[in-house]
Amino acid sequence: MRVALSDVGKNLQDHVHARVRCELTKPLSFAGLSSHDKQLAARAYEADKTGPLASNFLEAGCFVNSHPGLAYPDLQLFLFGNLTPEYPEAGRMANHGIALTAYVNRPLSKGEVTLSSADPLQRPRINPNYFSDPDDLRCLLAGVRWNLNILYAHAFDDLLGTELSPGSAIRDDERLSDFILRTASTTWHPTSTCRMGVDTNAVVDTALRVNGMSGLRVVDASIMPTIVSGNTNAPVIMIAEKAADLIRQVEPYTGGH
Ligand SMILES: Cc1cc2nc3c(=O)[nH]c(=O)nc-3n(C[C@H](O)[C@H](O)[C@H](O)COP(=O)(O)OP(=O)(O)OC[C@H]3O[C@@H](n4cnc5c(N)ncnc54)[C@H](O)[C@@H]3O)c2cc1C
Repeated sequence: MRVALSDVGKNLQDHVHARVRCELTKPLSFAGLSSHDKQLAARAYEADKTGPLASNFLEAGCFVNSHPGLAYPDLQLFLFGNLTPEYPEAGRMANHGIALTAYVNRPLSKGEVTLSSADPLQRPRINPNYFSDPDDLRCLLAGVRWNLNILYAHAFDDLLGTELSPGSAIRDDERLSDFILRTASTTWHPTSTCRMGVDTNAVVDTALRVNGMSGLRVVDASIMPTIVSGNTNAPVIMIAEKAADLIRQVEPYTGGH
């Protein structure tokens, strides 16, 4: 059975992020340890769950507003207790450092996934279309400024080494925006390409059934009509639990009352 659903692959949303990265003058991060010290860290963790490996690496996080007066935060920030490797600025990963991530948690830009060929083994074309809505850049710029303020809080005074990115010379809006456009990337939260809805173009209905098909449901992050304003893993598990109830036709568990 075939059905033409024009919205499959449309409406791609993701939490685009940018990072502030700074070296530390003290040996406080795992990635900066020598291989001998990494082995010691592994033994300490095996022995009594202590040492650098007792960290989940994302040591702190918070939700903040990009400007005052918002009803709900539109940015999520993380403090990662290591220098991150994957961007052009990442020349000196072996050093001790931290990375402060900001992501746009209510993005307005939408991308799409399309086929590159009729061969299902060929990779699809994924165009996230980040910053096609200029408000996302305004928002992420505010997120980078939040993280720079945190980085230069007095608590870090005797720890900070060289600021690797954006770099201490880059502070005006224009150059910070350029830094973001050059380095921003996925937070690995792609969603919404098979959006749920009650309109005729929706890909799945409210019971996750593919419109126009029988016996086929979609159960993953792609059914979110709009990306959630936080991390996606727990909501996907919730979607799967709900789908299991729908398929088994049982009422959801409400706590035993
Ligand atoms: C590096 C990384 C870090 C992340 N960190 C976090 C985090 O800290 N917190 C958080 O909340 N979220 C995080 N996420 C996001 C989270 O993992 C995803 O949102 C979530 O796993 C999406 O679930 P899903 O079921 O939609 O897709 P997936 O988990 O990708 O599941 C898709 C499944 O389909 C299978 N599959 C694919 N093609 C086929 C096929 N043709 N036939 C059969 N099976 C197939 C795959 O093997 C896979 O098992 C992270 C993601 C990544 C990649």
